[in-house]
Amino acid sequence: MNIDMNLDDLNGKLEPQSPHEIIRWAYETFGNRLAMLSSMQRTASALIFMLHEQGLHQLEIIFVDTQYHFPETLQLRDQLIEKYGMNIKTYQPQKSPEEQFREYGRELYLRDGDYQTCCHLRKEIPYMRAAEPYDAMLSGLMRSEGGARKKLSIVELDHRIDGYKIHPLANWTREMVDEFNHRNQVPVHPLHDTVYPSIGCQTCTTSVQPNEDERAGRWRHIREANPQSEQKLYCGINFGDKQGIRKKKE
Ligand code: SF4
Repeated sequence: MNIDMNLDDLNGKLEPQSPHEIIRWAYETFGNRLAMLSSMQRTASALIFMLHEQGLHQLEIIFVDTQYHFPETLQLRDQLIEKYGMNIKTYQPQKSPEEQFREYGRELYLRDGDYQTCCHLRKEIPYMRAAEPYDAMLSGLMRSEGGARKKLSIVELDHRIDGYKIHPLANWTREMVDEFNHRNQVPVHPLHDTVYPSIGCQTCTTSVQPNEDERAGRWRHIREANPQSEQKLYCGINFGDKQGIRKKKE
């Protein structure tokens, strides 16, 4: 990483800025060492449209295809490429689901203690490989999502990629994202319109009831098998979710 920054000062300066202004700052600072990580959820749609509005079509958008996604997720990726001409690149794990099953002799996504390995192999490693050429990564996380994300900084270190994660939507809410996408007619994941507020792999995502938390449908089978655990479950592709957020360069 070639760029050193005082993150406390920088985050103070960026805090009142709009997502568009933060994206502009990121591009002016990192140039072609900037990329975006996309989950193909509603925030990804909004960020992709903002990049399109700013003419940043060459910027690489990393999509990790775990090979367990809903077909609608892959369709949305293709739709966004076609509609906006964005540079979305797909990365897959080294082993197919069948090869992984043969190696471990079981489906890793089914149990606590195993699912973390599955996410590491199928999400985190492909992401780190894709992120290697970059110093900074845009991502759609928001503080309003709660859990570990409540403490999100706009810019934070991601030691795994020896670079920075940048969250232009840190101050936005789901309603603001939906209003933005609707006003600009941005394609969004069709399952958001039903009862899937948060979408990951098909194997680890269920619908949610109106009285449930937005992320209640993620790894429901793991939580139900461990009802005593209050631990929030994440795939770990976002460094701050599992490691705690680090604000100062060490
Ligand atoms: S979300 Fe489930 S299927 Fe997808 S990588 Fe993680 S454990 Fe595996």
